[in-house]
Amino acid sequence: MKIPLAGVIGSPIAHSKSPALHGHWLTQHGIPGYYCPMDVAPQDLQTVLRALPKAGFKGVNITIPHKESALALADSASPSAQRIGAANTLIYQQDGQIYADNTDAYGFITNLRSGAPDWQPADGAAMVLGAGGAARAVIVALLDAGVPQIILANRTRSRADHLAQTFGPHLVVVDWDKVADHLSDIGLLVNTTSLGMTGKPPLSVDLTGLAPGAVVNDLVYAPLRTPLLEAAAAKGCVTVDGLGMLLHQGVPGFAAWFGVTPTVSEQTRRAVLA
Ligand code: NAP
Repeated sequence: MKIPLAGVIGSPIAHSKSPALHGHWLTQHGIPGYYCPMDVAPQDLQTVLRALPKAGFKGVNITIPHKESALALADSASPSAQRIGAANTLIYQQDGQIYADNTDAYGFITNLRSGAPDWQPADGAAMVLGAGGAARAVIVALLDAGVPQIILANRTRSRADHLAQTFGPHLVVVDWDKVADHLSDIGLLVNTTSLGMTGKPPLSVDLTGLAPGAVVNDLVYAPLRTPLLEAAAAKGCVTVDGLGMLLHQGVPGFAAWFGVTPTVSEQTRRAVLA
């Protein structure tokens, strides 16, 4: 019997926390498998993806810059991957065919519900900052959860307008420099931009208008406590960091590849941060 294998494909890949996450779960469950990081150039993606099942790979995670190409290369795809327009989890079928899924929306909403258990989607509008790949997953998750309105703002407004056209009338686009004017209307603020990441400028939004009971979720997880989360906590808002999304998005892939559904706990967080 072949040793069950999985991994993550991206470029660069050295910074990925997924090997620590899946390695922790493999050890925790005593599974004799491996999960490895693979730096693959775009022109080699197809060849690599088609060869891996022959070596015992059950599937792979996909990260930047391959998420859209992986979906295009797959033989079939989940509704979630199709709606988001990208794949982050590939599962090899018995015959080697590639099934593409996207678990970012699941990871986002599971983390949000866990970190802010009192948050109710129907209670009010949500504001999403950013219009890249992560924003698409967040929008899909919030629409599915039943959020009545999503206020979307992005530095490059045309990208936000494009998302509003794609995802329909529940989305309203506002200018990037008018974000602060709309904060009093929302119950949830989600940062999906890369601002606030180590080495990037902070996300500087004046939170004065935000209700103290609002929930603020930053997808950035390095650092764990971003300037946005610190400012929101100082206002009395409920804050949710981005690490939990990373951990939860890994659950469906691990379950499909290794046959055990892992849990996300404080121990999981510590293992990945170590
Ligand atoms: P992406 O597709 O490259 O999108 C980047 C977004 O950030 C765009 O909206 C971009 O705006 C905005 N942005 C970048 N620099 C900016 C600046 N100086 N001022 C204003 N806006 C700026 O990236 P992504 O895949 O969506 O990822 C975005 C962030 O989410 C990253 O930090 C990533 O690590 C994080 N993330 C976290 C998880 C998790 O599991 N926690 C999962 C996915 C992503 P423009 O359109 O104007 O360029």
